[in-house]
Amino acid sequence: MHGLMQDWPLLCHRIIDHAAMIHGGREVVTRSVEGPIHRTTYSEIRQRSLQVAQRLDRDGIKLGDRVATIAWNTWRHLEAWYGIMGIGAICHTVNPRLFPEQIAWIINHAEDRMVMTDLTFVPILEKIASQLPSVERFIILTDAAHMPQTTLKNAVAYEEWIAEADGNFQWKTFDENTAAAMCYTSGTTGDPKGVLYSHRSNVLHALMANNGDALGTTTKDTMLPVVPLFHANSWGIAFSAPSMGTKLVMPGPKLDGASVYELLSTEKVTHTAGVPTVWLMLLQYMEKEKKTLPDLRMVVCGGSAMPRAMIKAFTDMGIEARHAWGMTEMSPLGTTCSLQPQFTSLPREKQLDVLQTQGFPPFMVEMKITDDAGKELPRDGKTFGRLKVRGPAVAGRYFRVDSDILDEDGYFDTGDVATLDGYGYMRITDRSKDVIKSGGEWISSIDLENLAVGHPKVAEAAVIGVYHPKWDERPLLIVQLKPDATCTRDEILQFMDGKIAKWWMPDDIVFVEAIPHTATGKILKTALRDQFSNYRLPTAAA
Ligand code: ADP
Repeated sequence: MHGLMQDWPLLCHRIIDHAAMIHGGREVVTRSVEGPIHRTTYSEIRQRSLQVAQRLDRDGIKLGDRVATIAWNTWRHLEAWYGIMGIGAICHTVNPRLFPEQIAWIINHAEDRMVMTDLTFVPILEKIASQLPSVERFIILTDAAHMPQTTLKNAVAYEEWIAEADGNFQWKTFDENTAAAMCYTSGTTGDPKGVLYSHRSNVLHALMANNGDALGTTTKDTMLPVVPLFHANSWGIAFSAPSMGTKLVMPGPKLDGASVYELLSTEKVTHTAGVPTVWLMLLQYMEKEKKTLPDLRMVVCGGSAMPRAMIKAFTDMGIEARHAWGMTEMSPLGTTCSLQPQFTSLPREKQLDVLQTQGFPPFMVEMKITDDAGKELPRDGKTFGRLKVRGPAVAGRYFRVDSDILDEDGYFDTGDVATLDGYGYMRITDRSKDVIKSGGEWISSIDLENLAVGHPKVAEAAVIGVYHPKWDERPLLIVQLKPDATCTRDEILQFMDGKIAKWWMPDDIVFVEAIPHTATGKILKTALRDQFSNYRLPTAAA
């Protein structure tokens, strides 16, 4: 027997309808690409999204067609999202930090019919435009006054383009399982893979993100997503914040410490989210300039492990540092780390131990760890294994790839290696391809990196496995020091000594000017492995 409730498909544009109806006057503030601060409201965003939808419809964009955005976090980008999705087309966010050839590959694979982009990326797109046969038109997210001379096909300024529509338009209706958005994984191994979110998965994911132990913002809060709309579905914030009526502050192209600080401070931001490198820049700026952020209550940090020193730096200022883990394939939230009641009265150092884990999953994410043969491993907080996940906002397949990516119980292998404990807390010990295999035992590169960045002179650290004749692989620690700091190898080794098992100690340390990063801010270990492929460890001679 079926229940007798209404059929109300979970569609993304219902979120902006709700935001406009109930929280219509709430602001969306942007540092625009053109420079000045721009202010609008959810009500205006909805109206202009309808103009986008109407204009796309008139240009013949249909259900299932892909429209790419290559753009910073701005109000126009948000309007484009809802406008594209609201006619059943697919908003394909492309990461502009990828190499131009990768951008071309992705656009061709998705067969995007239109590209909406910021002024910043016009020169890159002009270089690859001749390789993009599916693209019929480029919309430049600016007004007539800032429109550049460009060779891009049928290029038009966004403001001119939407002005041709009056917004007197109805969203289309369709099944909630219809595709709404797509995002390619960064493809550090092999070709990038397209993850295709549905309206239903995005709406359910917004509810997960709104959970008080996750991002948990309310109508009284202000959220600044430093995480870009093009990185893993903006961690769901483009849906979760409007669904709650949370004021949004969009940082546009400027993500350096001073610029992010300025917006956090002047807009009295309460919640913000981004990758560790962004927070490193912010903390360095605040330390140097002796700045404080009295309104900021929570920094959500994910994409890479958040170092203990960073958690401590924020909590010392009375700001909650909430570690988050996830991936593009999970929409992306997998776990967030808040303290369950059994931990709230622990001494501070013990609490930091908990806060350093990646946290526990919200309802609608299920997890297990297994060995290589797929046998489930104990949730004892010690045993590590392959982390597998399932849920309504987890990918079941990749776009245009036939192979099955789930095990027989419907779990997706994340490629991460982790422990799970009896309270549900998960701790990533490595990417399965980064773990260091020393004499048949595993050493966690992340644990060593976390420890090394605890040294006051270390800005960033990366650990890779380097060939060793006796042990197969041993850890090499690569360090980028803080600006103007000087430090020796022995100083760091002494600092680490006693804090980890002896056999985990790095066999050597090298200092570099800058640690390379991927397009999504993770340490680019493949480049480091190439750079140090012939590195001879001092212990290798023995
Ligand atoms: P991209 O490579 O495009 O950035 P994702 O953002 O989907 O792709 O990357 C997901 C991966 O990032 C995870 O599988 C995990 O290895 C890593 N990751 C994400 N958050 C964390 C975290 N808090 N701690 C450690 N690793 C993380």
